[in-house]
Amino acid sequence: MSHVVVIGSGPAGLAAAERLASEGVRVTLATMGHHLGGKAASWRDRRNGRVVEHGQHVMMGFYDQMRALLRRSGVDLARTAYDPDYRFIIWEARDQRAHHLHFEDGPLRMIFEGFKYTGMSLAEKLNFFGVLVQGLAELAGGVPESLDDTCLSAWCLERGLSPEFMQTAIFRCSREAQLNWPGEISAYTMLKTLAVAGRDYTTSQYRLPAGGMSEIWWEPVARRVESLGGFVRRHLKLTGIEVEDGRLVALRLAPPMPHPPERPYFEGVVPTDPATEERWTDFDAAILTLPPAALAEIMSPALLAIPELAGVPKLSTAAPLGLHAWHRASVTRGPRTVVAGLGNPLGFVVDNKAVYPEYRDDPSLGAALHFVGQETGFETDDDETLLERCLASVRRIPGWEGFDREGVLQFTVVRSRLSARRYWNAEPGSLRHKPTATTPVTGLFLGGDWIRTPLDFPCMENAVRGGRIAAKHCLDFLGANS
Ligand SMILES: Cc1cc2nc3c(=O)[nH]c(=O)nc-3n(C[C@H](O)[C@H](O)[C@H](O)COP(=O)(O)OP(=O)(O)OC[C@H]3O[C@@H](n4cnc5c(N)ncnc54)[C@H](O)[C@@H]3O)c2cc1C
Repeated sequence: MSHVVVIGSGPAGLAAAERLASEGVRVTLATMGHHLGGKAASWRDRRNGRVVEHGQHVMMGFYDQMRALLRRSGVDLARTAYDPDYRFIIWEARDQRAHHLHFEDGPLRMIFEGFKYTGMSLAEKLNFFGVLVQGLAELAGGVPESLDDTCLSAWCLERGLSPEFMQTAIFRCSREAQLNWPGEISAYTMLKTLAVAGRDYTTSQYRLPAGGMSEIWWEPVARRVESLGGFVRRHLKLTGIEVEDGRLVALRLAPPMPHPPERPYFEGVVPTDPATEERWTDFDAAILTLPPAALAEIMSPALLAIPELAGVPKLSTAAPLGLHAWHRASVTRGPRTVVAGLGNPLGFVVDNKAVYPEYRDDPSLGAALHFVGQETGFETDDDETLLERCLASVRRIPGWEGFDREGVLQFTVVRSRLSARRYWNAEPGSLRHKPTATTPVTGLFLGGDWIRTPLDFPCMENAVRGGRIAAKHCLDFLGANS
């Protein structure tokens, strides 16, 4: 029986392992941390047992491969994916108002809600509409890859979108908050994603995880891998990749040193003790799904010299900022709502009191606010300052006035402090650095949300697709060599 080692337990690694195991391959999945899901992981706060998410994750309607993976693993999506009913509150700084939008009923409703929006003038709305129609006509044949060299903002400006419109929260929400990224976004990445999501309106519907993602979604996938004869080894960090004559011959792994749970394990910088290193040679192939910055850290000069892999050190993943505040006060209006358009670093906030069943039934808890944003520009703020900033931001929303520091039962900040010197893999110019799932090294495959896929958008679905594509190539390789 062939044996494949999969490194990393984010959506990509789990998807790759599941595909291989279901094809009868013996799989060992090794991952650095304890909590499965990578950047889509969760863990329990030691102080109160409540769930901390690495980043609030939205599951869009077009995540068909991710949903299929979860279903095969016995996950009941009706119970574990919460429908927030497509209601948003957008805080528009221009008119200092909170706008309630409800997009549930289809494109006509969306247009109606857009025209009702008082945060911009009629001229601006018509201007946006004109650019939209022009853009749709232009991209009818597909989104060309050359647009990766263009910022989405520049693309919109070139087509006549007014710069004032681009300052509105509603535009910035779609450009920044949705991607938790205050910098520029590749026109290719964003337009292609919109094209995929918009192909059928229902495919753009989103769901939130109704509980900690590691527990409700990823552990069942790992159990399925194990039930198919696979092994899941936690607390093992890949520390070296040995290649001889163009063939992968060994992987080196070691347990990471103790690490605070608040600092997620996807960061490559977790130290290991060389004395504890294991050298693995008993495998036919390996799929690496660790983030590009973590992979670059352990690539030898010989691997870095391979042109197909030379772009890896240039890529990075988003540096998120997540703040959880469990509060006595409750949100009196619109509990099925996501609030967006808050000032940076805050992209959006969700009240998980309504979303998680275990919070819903907890009478001591008024709200479980989860803010998601970006660290960039706020690196030097301490946690208390960030908390105050977040609470002040939501207090402006009618119905949310009760959120003060005194009412906070507990708060946790998740910071990653990743290097901003690399390309985030949805930034303009990043596409040319992305490798494919196959590499020139025999037996070595790559997966993850940062490899080339037909979707090319850093999200859970892309990671699942990336993992499955790598597994498919690996199966072909094993078949050819059996
Ligand atoms: C704040 C935030 C919000 C997001 N919101 C959304 C959203 O709403 N919807 C959505 O679809 N996506 C969202 N994403 C993106 C999504 O989380 C990623 O696209 C997805 O997790 C990528 O999966 P992956 O398997 O490619 O990599 P990762 O999730 O990064 O997993 C990599 C794995 O490799 C492991 N690893 C790292 N180094 C080593 C090593 N040396 N040895 C062994 N293992 C190692 C890590 O521990 C981890 O298990 C968000 C991301 C963030 C950060």
